[in-house]
Amino acid sequence: MTKKGIVWFKTDLRLHDNETLIRAIEENDAIIPVYCFDTQEFKIVNEKNQNNGAFRLKFLFESITDLDQNLRKIGSGLIFLMGNPLVEIPKIAFNYNARKVYAKREVAIFEKQLDIKMEAELWKHKCFFEPFSTSTLYHATDLPFALKDIPDVFTTFRKRTEKETKIRDVFEKPKRIVSPTIPALKLPTFFELGLTENISDERGVLPFYGGENKALERLNYYLFDSHLIKKYKETRNGLLGGDYSSKLSPWLANGCVSARKIYAEVKKFEAEFGANDSTYWLIFELIWRDYFRFIFKKHQHKLFTFNGISNQNKAVPKVDAQKIVNWKMGKTGVDFVDANMNELRLTGFMSNRGRQNVASYFIHELNQDWRIGARYFEEQLIDYDASSNWGNWAYLAGVGNDPRSGRQFNIEKQAKEYDATNAYQNLWLKAKV
Ligand SMILES: Cc1cc2nc3c(=O)[nH]c(=O)nc-3n(C[C@H](O)[C@H](O)[C@H](O)COP(=O)(O)OP(=O)(O)OC[C@H]3O[C@@H](n4cnc5c(N)ncnc54)[C@H](O)[C@@H]3O)c2cc1C
Repeated sequence: MTKKGIVWFKTDLRLHDNETLIRAIEENDAIIPVYCFDTQEFKIVNEKNQNNGAFRLKFLFESITDLDQNLRKIGSGLIFLMGNPLVEIPKIAFNYNARKVYAKREVAIFEKQLDIKMEAELWKHKCFFEPFSTSTLYHATDLPFALKDIPDVFTTFRKRTEKETKIRDVFEKPKRIVSPTIPALKLPTFFELGLTENISDERGVLPFYGGENKALERLNYYLFDSHLIKKYKETRNGLLGGDYSSKLSPWLANGCVSARKIYAEVKKFEAEFGANDSTYWLIFELIWRDYFRFIFKKHQHKLFTFNGISNQNKAVPKVDAQKIVNWKMGKTGVDFVDANMNELRLTGFMSNRGRQNVASYFIHELNQDWRIGARYFEEQLIDYDASSNWGNWAYLAGVGNDPRSGRQFNIEKQAKEYDATNAYQNLWLKAKV
């Protein structure tokens, strides 16, 4: 009897360095690759917030289309399912008589619970479920600490991990996949989903386009074509244009490129052109990304609560709806905040410097519940990633993994330092907002 396995793609929309896919191919005679679009997730967001989520969705659909095309080149294709994964995935497993479902292991609480329920649901059809950790630089099981002992201070985590843990090699992309005939991919239109497709404002840092091919192109550009990585540490706090930082985050968030692949390419670059503080710093930032994921794994739902993982017992501040709308619409009257919020609203992206400032302003000057700000970022950002987003917000609110109590930025000083000529503010405060 033919052994069949379902590969359930989630935020790992790539063929390279995808252990889930590799193991499924090794263990089966035929593979059925699927993606399940959970309408509920986008509906919740959009009922409350009109057209938010449209930039993120566009990038996601581009990534799914690219994955389907890449799969077809090696003999397979992607089945697009829509609905509740707990219903759709077991249904397809049953229809294809699959013996096992392979998927990326999750860290955030909601997704983790879904995995647990999925395992139980599949088992009713005598089908196994096996998740694989594929999103981090350091493999979770290679860390020098047990999950419960992961330090709540980043530097402690980084120093020991860098010293004691080897980063695993990248898995090559499969050359061939045997699959039953997979019908042509058909994605729902924005209209069908109750959304209007947003055209990203041409003032944006990059015309971001989803998918593994574009991710690898961007990585190659940032390292080997332009050598921009050599100056990364000095330029990474920039605000304007495509070159001040890697801009890999939207592709990383959708799993179009793996953190290990970036690491491997940086090492290749260093071997050829030399290492410096900047080449290391890109890895350093990827360790931050890892760290937020492991902290999430350790503290679970706590990072979604107002007092986070701190021992504080502060009361949730009163909601001021007008202040929140002004912040979202770039109408606070503070130019640096407004310019950044316009960029986010009109493109789905904002620099790291901008994110820190607008979040600090929301938390410490508007005195609003940081989780409302985090939720807005979740809807808007094309690079939305639960751990990085909620982890950074909690950190700035002083309830995350930081020994200091809250990080308040002096916005005026920051604007003078990072936008000395007002070029950024002038760009994003112009009409058309
Ligand atoms: C309030 C707030 C919310 C954020 N929300 C997200 C989010 O939802 N998704 C997201 O990917 N990043 C988030 N970040 C982190 C950071 O701002 C973005 O990763 C970065 O701006 C993306 O641009 P880049 O790819 O050019 O980054 P680079 O500077 O080129 O960095 C390379 C990679 O390192 C990782 N990285 C860099 N800085 C951080 C950081 N502070 N925390 C975690 N990872 C980091 C990212 O994966 C990034 O792509 C947030 C930061 C703040 C302050």
